[in-house]
Amino acid sequence: MILKLSSPIGKVKGIGEKYIQILNHQGIFSVFDLLLRFPVYHIDFSSSRSELLVGQEGLFPIELKNARLTRNFKKRISLLKVNGYFKQQPIQIVFFNQPYLLEFFQKHEKVWIYGKVETRDQVFQFTNPGFFPDIKEKKIIPVYRRIATIKSGQIRRIMENIFENLEDDYENLPQPLLEKYNFKTISHSLKEVHSPVKYNENYINIQKQRFVYTEFLLFELELQKIRTFFSHVSRIHGYVINDKIKHSIENSLSFELTADQIHAFEDIVNDLKSDYTMQRLIQGDVGSGKTVVAFLALLVAKENGYQGAFLAPTEILVNQHFRKATDFFTGAQIGIITGSTPLQEKKRIIEGLMKGNIDIIFGTHALLNEKIQFKRLSMIVIDEQHRFGVSQRAALYYKSKSVDLLVTTATPIPRTLLLTLFNDLRVSKIESMPAGRKPIISKIIKPESRNSFYIWLRKKIEKGAKTFIVLPLIEKSDFFHSLRSIEGEAEYYKQAFAPFKVEFISGKSSSLQKDRALKAFFSGKIKILVATTLIEVGIDVKDSDIIVIENADRYGLAQLHQLRGRVGRGELQSYCYLHPSPNITRNGKKRLTTIVSSCNGFEIAEIDLKMRGGGFISGLEQSGFLDFKIGDVKGDYSVLIEAQKDAEQIMKNKSMQNSFISDFLLSVQRKIESISFS
Ligand code: ADP
Ligand code: MG
Repeated sequence: MILKLSSPIGKVKGIGEKYIQILNHQGIFSVFDLLLRFPVYHIDFSSSRSELLVGQEGLFPIELKNARLTRNFKKRISLLKVNGYFKQQPIQIVFFNQPYLLEFFQKHEKVWIYGKVETRDQVFQFTNPGFFPDIKEKKIIPVYRRIATIKSGQIRRIMENIFENLEDDYENLPQPLLEKYNFKTISHSLKEVHSPVKYNENYINIQKQRFVYTEFLLFELELQKIRTFFSHVSRIHGYVINDKIKHSIENSLSFELTADQIHAFEDIVNDLKSDYTMQRLIQGDVGSGKTVVAFLALLVAKENGYQGAFLAPTEILVNQHFRKATDFFTGAQIGIITGSTPLQEKKRIIEGLMKGNIDIIFGTHALLNEKIQFKRLSMIVIDEQHRFGVSQRAALYYKSKSVDLLVTTATPIPRTLLLTLFNDLRVSKIESMPAGRKPIISKIIKPESRNSFYIWLRKKIEKGAKTFIVLPLIEKSDFFHSLRSIEGEAEYYKQAFAPFKVEFISGKSSSLQKDRALKAFFSGKIKILVATTLIEVGIDVKDSDIIVIENADRYGLAQLHQLRGRVGRGELQSYCYLHPSPNITRNGKKRLTTIVSSCNGFEIAEIDLKMRGGGFISGLEQSGFLDFKIGDVKGDYSVLIEAQKDAEQIMKNKSMQNSFISDFLLSVQRKIESISFS
């Protein structure tokens, strides 16, 4: 039977009802969808290793001796130890929590394993390696990531069945682009990516490029389509800024605006006077004062008789903004709605918004999902917008069709990337800091100076310093190495600083606990707040002047810069102390010295991009902002930029659109139009 790329997966030999269900659930419907699940790597059986070198990864033929399984039911751990030989040298293979492998290793006398050589108690060891029973004729074997319960071996057999019967000349990229990049046909490239005739990593990567490129191109086309659509949304809500409004602006401000804050506000006012709705991004480094500019925009909306909504990514941040708003919007009715708002109160707020009794609402993005109706919403502010994923962001555009949209970000995204990500928004930059700010002094604490550091810190706290201590989340893979839990760590600090009261908050704390601890820290009732990175974004405690970051090298540059930004938000001289972890890497060291040498987010972002440490970019990736299936923004950055330029050409020049592209653009168009606006 002949298969086409568009054939439903049910047509493939080896895929029955059960697999169809599993695959559909993973968004895989056609043969093409499945083929886009590329191998993670290939194993070339013609080139196995000839010796055991610690740290080296590779393929090793192993003679098996015995296998033993131990279980610890209390801890729910099982350990499979397999003993064998590689060229007469004893080796051990261990598998955690895969008791079902016992049978396999008891049954076979010889296996091939693929993994990294380690040593333990002077014996060579492999931990959770890949393994293969027989390799008679297959020379190059692709290894796949599991798809739900379907394992690599099963996927491999299915893929083989597909390639045996695949006959297709389907093409999705327009001819000029194929020529420009010298791409091979889709089926040829797929074949080479999955089962290349000869193994050559570089060659496989070149064959992958067309798929990476296509994914980026569609992403860019969608963004640009959205932009053209929304840049032409006619204004419904008109604004005036008369003397009365100017007066209430002056009354609300408790400090002089910086020149950049004034410029940003002027940009906003100009947008509000234009015939189209506002779509603006305020980009400013940590602590530069973006909130007040956003508040002013909301004030203008309120004074013109409209409602406004302010969205922030976390509950503690929403609470903080709400508290500030209470001082700022003296004559307005403001409300707050988050995941932990009691039902009764929620009802009251929803009614208030619908009837128009509430002028400005603060909330997490729950505010969007709930079917909240406004009487006369005209302005939406989204704080720290990079924290919102692509789909949420699209939803926002759709929701905000006829309203003015202002978003803020502290992520100092480099210019080129900025264009790609935010090419649908106009940008106001806040570069200058409010007057009187002193650059934060950052230092790396050597492990041997830890004790004297704590003695010194105690003295500072006695003299009134307010200190954040940041603990890293313990990752699963650390479980076996680190016996100290994060709670234990917090306990250590509590004892070390007694009689001073230490509060500890983590992701597990209830929102009430978090809010209480932050309030106590804010008011000065407690001087030491131990927390996980949940304090990373936005938290504003003006007089906190010391931040201590444990295992600081574990964080990317972006996160370190954000964390450090929790101090130095007032006129006090502030300090940031970085504790390296025991097994710090070379890049980890470089990150710490970078943070010590610069306080400027833009500078740091540029270094980050060069280092390809990817802190800034992977931050965006993790937040779902750039979660590509095939492409990798770090590794394929230049492809993304090319795709952006091409997308621009395609949008301008219809003759470059083939039927695939124009169908795609049509589907985006439909998506935009299908959203009904209240
Ligand atoms: P971010 O840009 O990181 O969101 P915020 O808006 O939270 O920063 O502002 C940081 C701190 O600086 C706040 O405490 C705010 O009140 C203060 N601030 C903002 N603008 C000024 C200004 N022009 N003069 C003095 N302090 C300011
Ligand atoms: Mg902020």
